[in-house]
Formats: sequence, C-alpha cells, structure tokens
Amino acid sequence: MAYDPNNIFARILRGEIPCKKILETPHSLAFHDIQPQAPIHALVIPKGAYVHLDDFTAKASDAEISDFTRAVGQVARQLGADADGYRILANCGANANQEVPHLHIHVFGGRRLGRMIDKPSA
Ligand code: 5GP
Repeated sequence: MAYDPNNIFARILRGEIPCKKILETPHSLAFHDIQPQAPIHALVIPKGAYVHLDDFTAKASDAEISDFTRAVGQVARQLGADADGYRILANCGANANQEVPHLHIHVFGGRRLGRMIDKPSA
C-alpha cells in the first residue's frame, strides 16, 4: 500500500490537526488517542512516512527504529502504565482492521485488559 500523505497522523505531524502530546523525540511523536479504550491509551508514531510495522521494519533506519522503540517504553513509564502492566498493539493491514495508514503503536493501561484477541468462534 502506498503511503497517503493526507492521512490523519501525517496531518498531526504537520501541525494541521491538534493532538494531546505526551512525548516528542527526534524520530517519534506520542499523543493520547482521541477515543480512549482504557484509562491509559496512547499512540506512538514515527515521524517518517511508514504505513505500518511491516513497512517500517523493512525501510526505516536503525536510528528511527531504536528511537521509536525507546519512545514506546518511555511513554508507558511517563504515564505510569509500567506500575501494573500494560499492552502494546500495532494493527497492520486489513486483517487487523488498521484504520489509520501511518504506523502507530497503541499503549493501553490503567485497567485489566483481558486476553490478547478474541478466540475464533467454533
Ligand atoms: P487503528 O485501528 O488504525 O489501529 O487505530 C487508529 C486509532 O487512531 C484509533 O484508536 C482512533 O481512536 C485514533 N484516532 C483516529 N483519529 C484520531 C485523531 O484525529 N486524533 C487522535 N489523537 N487519535 C485518532
């Protein structure tokens, strides 16, 4: 899938749309999800134009990958999610119902989060 420079997170990165910023690093930005699904629900995105994790891991530099990975951990600590545990999640493409075509890691915390994914119905 080609990167769409008008996706909502690209517009946030360009400052065209506001966000509740948590953290900014040389290669990453983190902000609160607009429709939180847990008491803590943050999104961490790379500043580069990557559609999803597959695109990112194939094309991003080591500096971008290390910055992004560290940003995820830092966000969790900054929001206090590390105290009782948290979940990170990255939807990648159609089977995962990815809605915004710019790589983002969800950081969920602040409550018990249940099992990883729905079990297939029998
Ligand atoms: P996905 O399904 O692509 O993994 O998740 C996209 C996430 O982006 C959703 O949790 C949705 O609430 C969030 N989102 C969509 N538009 C905006 C926005 O304009 N601002 C923020 N902060 N989050 C958004």
